[in-house]
Amino acid sequence: MNWLIGGVGALIVAGAAYKKRSLSLSGAIAAVMMGTIYYGAGNLFWFGTLLLFFITSTLLSKYRQESKQDLEKSYAKTGRRDAGQVLANGGIGMILCLGYFINPDETWKLLFIGVMATVTADTWATEVGSLSRRPPISILNGKRLPPGTSGGISWLGSTAAAIGGAVIGAGAWVFGQWMGMEAGLFTYILSGFIGGLAGAFADSWMGATVQKMYHCSVCGKDVEVHKHCGQATDRSRGWGFMSNDAVNMISSMIGGLAAWLTASLL
Ligand SMILES: [Zn+2]
Repeated sequence: MNWLIGGVGALIVAGAAYKKRSLSLSGAIAAVMMGTIYYGAGNLFWFGTLLLFFITSTLLSKYRQESKQDLEKSYAKTGRRDAGQVLANGGIGMILCLGYFINPDETWKLLFIGVMATVTADTWATEVGSLSRRPPISILNGKRLPPGTSGGISWLGSTAAAIGGAVIGAGAWVFGQWMGMEAGLFTYILSGFIGGLAGAFADSWMGATVQKMYHCSVCGKDVEVHKHCGQATDRSRGWGFMSNDAVNMISSMIGGLAAWLTASLL
């Protein structure tokens, strides 16, 4: 029965997101599959936390969209998510959910909170940080960077990341209470907060060092995309396999471990 509820719920949400152009067709299909597993193998705790990430991030990407359009051309992650991005955001959570299905243990849930806190913190930092009037600084050396550069951090973006992580922790607790779980609210919020910040900073650090990047010879910016300013870009630095999606996945694993460690130390 849970699988059926999950399938119908996921179909409604993914269908609406597809219509609103927040998901591509491949992204919508991946999201239906993912939502079904999150509810079928998991429960409202898993499904609700995934939805909280998805809905808040979609709303933030629509917020003041016109003033972020130029920057979004530099990012591989744009408003419309395809299957690769959906899996990069929710794939590890899905594996953790299946782990919990096979062997119910609190550890899976804490890792999950950190993973979802990271993808939320990353998205919130990108969407809100893009609105910062001050240029970002490099995570490596503190030098000013052009807005939209991978590895750039700002106070506004970092604050958004911290709040995003804490919101995921609080939301996960609310959904967990519904399912009769007995974890402390403070533990979940702090795990989300620390997990989200650790994951988001890991993402920025990898964006500044190992991520595969391209150089635009027209505007002189380092970008994540093959095409910029209407022209093909050149490979500039980073490891060939370290795509933006790969960086997202690794940083969310780091966020998951940080959340679990935080809860273990409390
Ligand atoms: Zn350019």
